[in-house]
Amino acid sequence: MAEFTMELNDEQREVRDWLHGFAADVIRPAAAEWDEREETPWPVIQEAAKVGIYSLDFYAQQYFDPTGLGIPMAMEELFWGDAGIALSIVGTGLAAVGVLANGTEEQIGTWIPQMYGDANDVKVAAFCSSEPDAGSDVASMRTRAVYDEAKDEWVLNGTKTWATNGGIANVHVVVAVVDPDLGSKGHASFIVPPSTPGLSQGQKFKKHGIRASHTAEVVLDNVRIPGSCLLGGKAKLDERLARARERAKAGGGERVKNAAMATFEASRPAVGAMAVGTARAAYEVALDYAMTREQFGRPIIDNQGVAFQLADMRTSIDAARLLVWRASWMAVNGKPFTAAEGSMSKLFASETAKKVTGQAIQILGGNGYTREYPVERMHRDAAIYTIFEGTREIQRLVIARTLSGMPIR
Ligand SMILES: Cc1cc2nc3c(=O)[nH]c(=O)nc-3n(C[C@H](O)[C@H](O)[C@H](O)COP(=O)(O)OP(=O)(O)OC[C@H]3O[C@@H](n4cnc5c(N)ncnc54)[C@H](O)[C@@H]3O)c2cc1C
Repeated sequence: MAEFTMELNDEQREVRDWLHGFAADVIRPAAAEWDEREETPWPVIQEAAKVGIYSLDFYAQQYFDPTGLGIPMAMEELFWGDAGIALSIVGTGLAAVGVLANGTEEQIGTWIPQMYGDANDVKVAAFCSSEPDAGSDVASMRTRAVYDEAKDEWVLNGTKTWATNGGIANVHVVVAVVDPDLGSKGHASFIVPPSTPGLSQGQKFKKHGIRASHTAEVVLDNVRIPGSCLLGGKAKLDERLARARERAKAGGGERVKNAAMATFEASRPAVGAMAVGTARAAYEVALDYAMTREQFGRPIIDNQGVAFQLADMRTSIDAARLLVWRASWMAVNGKPFTAAEGSMSKLFASETAKKVTGQAIQILGGNGYTREYPVERMHRDAAIYTIFEGTREIQRLVIARTLSGMPIR
């Protein structure tokens, strides 16, 4: 087990500087354009693929970094560049984590490379859990997966919503109900391979922020996939369902985690790190502005009212980063989240990003409110962090129930 450290090692510092260079030179200059276009920035993803940032190798290297700091450091730098573009670059990672967390070695080797494609032909992937009537309440999911034993195929039917890269993905990871009597314990995750008939994109959403990231409904109409596309395999699923039925009979079924929850638990500190990146970006713009903008014959930072805001912004950002790094280190080293430290990190960082980006607008005055300056975009982008991967209310609920020992439904 790696000791917890707040110090990046030489190699990590090198990677961070390299990512920062890409964020500053490639992502940030393209941010306003793709925000206005509200389209997936394929050329930027391709640039990221060319230099090796958009690749399984890079992602796996950071994911398996035993210090736990690889992923948060990478997320912070990319999202410092721009949240919408960065989500287009890392969105595939959510689906990849779904496969890494629940798939067999063969499934990992087969499907993850197809999620990324290569630098000449980049692909993206989507993780589809949310539904119109099952957002926070994952257990009320309706998308159904039925096993056709004669053909060794699964048949999927239902509508997914809010899927990042939904419909434009090469590979979709879909969570569906295999046993409706078991609530969220009766869910399983499936791979829908490229060009599978029956999968189509529903409406594409026009959003408040992260507009360079594609978000859409995914409709599954009699989608037939091979038995081998069930993540983890049939034997493991049957075993898990049998255990859940036993527990349900005995009245203690809450302890079995479902596949989608496993994905969210592993990815929450990473979302916290994205929020830290956006908050830091807005803080830096505000600090720079406050030191150069003069009113009443002196830089506005000479006023305590402005300086103290910047002091609070920086303090919150550093505190958020510490919570994120701790949770990420715990996750990588298999430390149990006895106080829901993953949710804690996401909760605090997401609220920090919303607050800090709002303060940045205030410090820039009228300029902060225009699209000539990036902080209004950062503020719109920051609003997502208290919503996706579990809203801030759900994070509080998870933390409170973990502390009290009550079951998390
Ligand atoms: C841009 C974007 C990208 C997304 N990407 C993906 C993706 O790739 N894959 C995916 O599967 N999903 C994705 N999501 C879905 C996201 O995870 C959900 O929006 C989120 O889980 C909330 O669900 P909901 O929108 O249905 O809100 P609801 O669950 O309807 O919640 C509405 C409000 O009620 C509150 N609330 C609900 N229940 C409780 C409770 N018990 N106690 C207190 N308050 C409560 C919520 O906190 C919220 O404020 C994305 C969403 C967005 C907006």
